Amino acid sequence: MIAPNRYVQGPRVLEDAGQYIGHLGSKVFFVADPLAWSIVKDQISKGFAARSIAYGYEPFEGLCTRAGADKISVKARAFGPDVVAGLGGGSAIDTAKAVSHDLGCSLVIIPTVASNDAPCSALSVQYKENHMLDRFLRLKRNPDVVLVDSKVISEAPARFFVAGMGDALATWFEAFTCTKSSAKNMPGGVSTSAALSLARLCYDTLMEYGVSAKLAVDRKALTPAVEKVIEANILLSGLGFESSGLSSAHGIHEGFAAMEETKSMMHGELVAYGTLSLLVLENYPRTEIGRVFGFCEAVGLPTTLGQLGITDVSPEHLRKAAEVACMEGLTTHNTYFEINPDLILGAILGANALGEERLKGPQRP
Ligand SMILES: [Zn+2]
Repeated sequence: MIAPNRYVQGPRVLEDAGQYIGHLGSKVFFVADPLAWSIVKDQISKGFAARSIAYGYEPFEGLCTRAGADKISVKARAFGPDVVAGLGGGSAIDTAKAVSHDLGCSLVIIPTVASNDAPCSALSVQYKENHMLDRFLRLKRNPDVVLVDSKVISEAPARFFVAGMGDALATWFEAFTCTKSSAKNMPGGVSTSAALSLARLCYDTLMEYGVSAKLAVDRKALTPAVEKVIEANILLSGLGFESSGLSSAHGIHEGFAAMEETKSMMHGELVAYGTLSLLVLENYPRTEIGRVFGFCEAVGLPTTLGQLGITDVSPEHLRKAAEVACMEGLTTHNTYFEINPDLILGAILGANALGEERLKGPQRP
């Protein structure tokens, strides 16, 4: 089981960023989403000034690619930091991870949205320019500090928060699949009971607090339920997936991510639909499937292919996505039975059939 060294979450923790980061050194190089940086810069600067911490800043937007990370590494090296800090959403964070790996310095992650479970892990997911998966870069160690300002996150657009719940929704089901198949987790071992319990707690937290947290974030309110779901999206999902393993929900997500129509969808939204497909693929009981569909409908996660932007739902059109999901090296193969594009295609179409039928009215399957 692996985890970040420290995880700090609470309202306005960024004002004390110097206190939480200071033990790592006095020069911090930020790789940051420019919009997020403009929102939190003043808070961080104040805390840094109080502790004489100097910082550099490089804006980052777009896809996390090897070339993009290499370019920023050159600038970071010129600054000579003790710490590289990734600030913003998944791409800025993954790029900062690659830069810190390159420089061999400490790593701090400051997510300003709770849209995915990347912050806590020792993985940087890198893509090719065509949005196809390039590689999983494995860092030597997990982040030294993950700093989560729940006030900042609760004031970000609700879609990010909901997408994070979509990513977190997969954690328990994928972890459980890996336990059944004895698949390897991210560091190459098998899951501990501790990691599996965290994955389950992630799911239970979403079911208990997800809907009320979403309603609160819609109104930019920070409530205890929002704090619980931020922890589920970032900490529980992060530890759960990394130390227990991923399976078909993320594999199917890669199939969708390779389609032109889904370019405007977020990682967690595609993973949520991947989770519905996993439930169909593994033939979960009707009550469990109904519960997960009901949750997705209540918080606004996609439950039909149409909601992913896919209008041609013919098997011929979707076969490519099913084939991508079965590519060698993808976590779809962590399923406890042999998978192939026919099975994945069936699961994708089966989930869509349930999703469409449920939208028609009260007689929900
Ligand atoms: Zn994910």
